[in-house]
Amino acid sequence: EDYILKVDNLHVSFRSHDDIGEIKAVRGVSFELKKGETLAIVGESGSGKSVTAKSLMRLLPKQNSMIKQGSVIYEKKDLLKYSNKEMQKIRGSEISMIFQDPMTSLNPTMTIGKQIIEGLRKHQVMEKKEVIKRATELLELVGIPSPKERMKNFPHQFSGGMRQRVVIAMALASNPTVLLADEPTTALDVTIQAQILELMKNLQKKTGTAIIIITHDLGVVASMAQRVAVMYAGEIVETGTVDEIFYEPKHPYTIGLLLSMPKLHSSRSLKLIPIPGTPPDLGQLPEGCAFAARCPSVMKVCHTFPPTMTEVSETHVVSCWLEDKRATRVERLSELG
Ligand code: ATP
Ligand code: MG
Repeated sequence: EDYILKVDNLHVSFRSHDDIGEIKAVRGVSFELKKGETLAIVGESGSGKSVTAKSLMRLLPKQNSMIKQGSVIYEKKDLLKYSNKEMQKIRGSEISMIFQDPMTSLNPTMTIGKQIIEGLRKHQVMEKKEVIKRATELLELVGIPSPKERMKNFPHQFSGGMRQRVVIAMALASNPTVLLADEPTTALDVTIQAQILELMKNLQKKTGTAIIIITHDLGVVASMAQRVAVMYAGEIVETGTVDEIFYEPKHPYTIGLLLSMPKLHSSRSLKLIPIPGTPPDLGQLPEGCAFAARCPSVMKVCHTFPPTMTEVSETHVVSCWLEDKRATRVERLSELG
């Protein structure tokens, strides 16, 4: 096996506020992360990208979330069956996550230096002098000027960009085998964004870390990833190499998404075309394909039966009736009742 992480048929739900309904945020997500590769996950807001990443780390809110089904195989074991204690050992050491909002990963009442040092010490026994040296090196690595002095500062004394660099330094501190990066650079300006992406790529070259990067930016996908998974309403609807997804997208949603997503370094005036309509209510999903109501190529069968994965190439799969040879037959069957 050449994968480091294998997610199989993951289902995650939330209890709705009224406590009656079930919000099906992730519905049957499966993918493999290969050793040393970068997989990008793209999809509209609310499609389940962060929930998927947080499930792998077992970091969903306890009060109202449930992992209903599925497995996350890492080193031949299912992370979803780990005890909290076992999970704590892996989290932040072997598998690290950079969150969408850097403040969620930082303790506002503790200096940056102390936080990095604590992080380092959690995972390995180090002498005080050594650990301070390593913490300083990490801050230097992510481009924080005068790192030694900055160690004494609290999170609020850093700008947003600098804070995200600190978070990245902390995530990298343990040389993780898997790094989950949830929009790690969205809040940063373009120059810093490019620097941080470069940093992540360098780390990957050095340590062979496999990366899952969640992003709204096609430029980030192009510069970082080898493969792309496209999410819609809690499902992966298409997976392929970056070239397959960019130049031969098959799912009408992927095509719409590509037209609606910004491209790094492209002129800001370039017109983005949003996909008409809105995603379905995850508490009341339609019977057939979840994209049917917005799909410009919708067929009758799409409203009745959910599509299943069709192989386009060895590396490219899509869940759409348009690509499924059985569509006309199923459509006729459904007409017969
Ligand atoms: P974005 O691009 O905006 O970050 P996303 O793809 O990361 O979007 P998720 O955060 O994974 O979206 O959320 C998916 C869906 O799960 C949301 O639409 C919401 O309905 C539900 N959800 C997420 N977190 C919670 C929560 N804490 N409580 C209840 N429902 C939630
Ligand atoms: Mg998110």
